[in-house]
Amino acid sequence: MTRVHVIGGGLAGLSAAVELAGRAFVTVHEAGPACGGRARSYFDRALGARVDNGNHLLLSANAAAFRYLGLIGAEKTLKGPGAPVFPWFDLEAGLGWTLRLSRGRVPFWALPGGARVPGMRVAELGALLTLLRATGDRTVAECLKPGMLAHRLLEPFAVSALNTSCDIGSAVLLANIVRESLAKGGMACRPWYPAEGLSESFVDPAVRHLELLGGEVRTGARLSSIEAADGRVTALSFGEERVALGPEDHVVFAAPAPVAASVLGPFWPELTVPDAFESIVNLHFRLDAKPVLRGMVARTGFVGVVGGVTEWAFVKGDVISVTVSAANRYTARENEELCATIWGEVRRALGPVVAGGLPETPPPSRLIREKRATFTATPEQDRRRPGGRTPFANLVLAGDWTQTGLPSTIEGAIRSGVTAARTSGLV
Ligand SMILES: Cc1cc2nc3c(=O)[nH]c(=O)nc-3n(C[C@H](O)[C@H](O)[C@H](O)COP(=O)(O)OP(=O)(O)OC[C@H]3O[C@@H](n4cnc5c(N)ncnc54)[C@H](O)[C@@H]3O)c2cc1C
Repeated sequence: MTRVHVIGGGLAGLSAAVELAGRAFVTVHEAGPACGGRARSYFDRALGARVDNGNHLLLSANAAAFRYLGLIGAEKTLKGPGAPVFPWFDLEAGLGWTLRLSRGRVPFWALPGGARVPGMRVAELGALLTLLRATGDRTVAECLKPGMLAHRLLEPFAVSALNTSCDIGSAVLLANIVRESLAKGGMACRPWYPAEGLSESFVDPAVRHLELLGGEVRTGARLSSIEAADGRVTALSFGEERVALGPEDHVVFAAPAPVAASVLGPFWPELTVPDAFESIVNLHFRLDAKPVLRGMVARTGFVGVVGGVTEWAFVKGDVISVTVSAANRYTARENEELCATIWGEVRRALGPVVAGGLPETPPPSRLIREKRATFTATPEQDRRRPGGRTPFANLVLAGDWTQTGLPSTIEGAIRSGVTAARTSGLV
């Protein structure tokens, strides 16, 4: 059987490996101590709790992600309300509401009397049509119409989906997400997240699945260089260790974009990759005890927040985890000050739905700044994304930064892995 070397054990690499397992001998070479990359769980000693590096939300429209979970037997490890419902809180107005999308394509939810965004006008929905028709360099901000639909739904949705501000974010990339989700109706927009953790859903079952099918995962294996001749990769080097490739061997390169530029660039001068990145801040607060939730948040386990720094707050056991996207704008802010600000916002947004309220003093916390969480989803960066094919006959690319048509997302990463496996000709 052919041997395939997968470089990088993030979700793109794991997805390619899962696709190829059983059809080839698959070895995943992961530089870090564990697989998962930007979607991983770990035990945080300071907090005394297992947490995810960052909250990740999927929608039921994420077909490739759900197919992957099915292949590795982990489809039951996600949880969600089972309906397209999203509780929100506007900090400036001190107002909470639940957006209940209509199940089908017709947006009955937007009509007066429906469970719509407070203060919105039906005419504002026209922004979605403008967005869906957007081409080239148009930004999200150029498509939105001022109003409460933009302020309380479309802007926060865009910033979370693109991890980029609306002023510079690509309308085309956002439109691709809208086409696959909102435009298909509420059933495509049911939110999901790992019941236990990202690794328990997306990583550990994949590694077990691979090993069952005779594959192997090598952690601490950082690809440092390649050798190539006659349009083929002939050897891979991991520091001192050199792995020679046989004539039938293939490589799926699923390490991040900067690694592609440094390792493959010397052999492939035309290669361009995204080179601007946005950070995401995640702040985990550990409470004394698991809070008793009331209302819609008890059903969803999360709330969307507008009008402050906080964007999403998830309640998982005794940990409240806050996500702040497009967080380069907060680089200069001290952790302690951010923590106090965000805790104040969490108390206002979640306090009323927690039995007994939330304490005034911030509980023990851990702030994680993922500096290169995603590439900046601008039209210019999108143009720098390569497809999966390369000048090497036996090497294909995967990763959320390759040309998936989507911004950096789990869905994009997993899709890229499937495409890479198919492009290799082994599937
Ligand atoms: C905080 C945060 C929140 C997010 N929220 C969401 C969300 O809500 N919904 C969503 O869909 N997406 C979200 N994303 C994006 C999602 O996590 C990524 O799109 C996805 O995990 C990328 O997977 P990947 O395999 O393409 O890349 P990575 O996860 O970066 O995988 C690359 C792997 O390669 C390894 N590697 C690096 N160098 C080498 C080398 N030289 N040799 C071998 N291995 C190497 C790395 O260690 C890593 O494991 C979020 C990301 C972050 C950081």
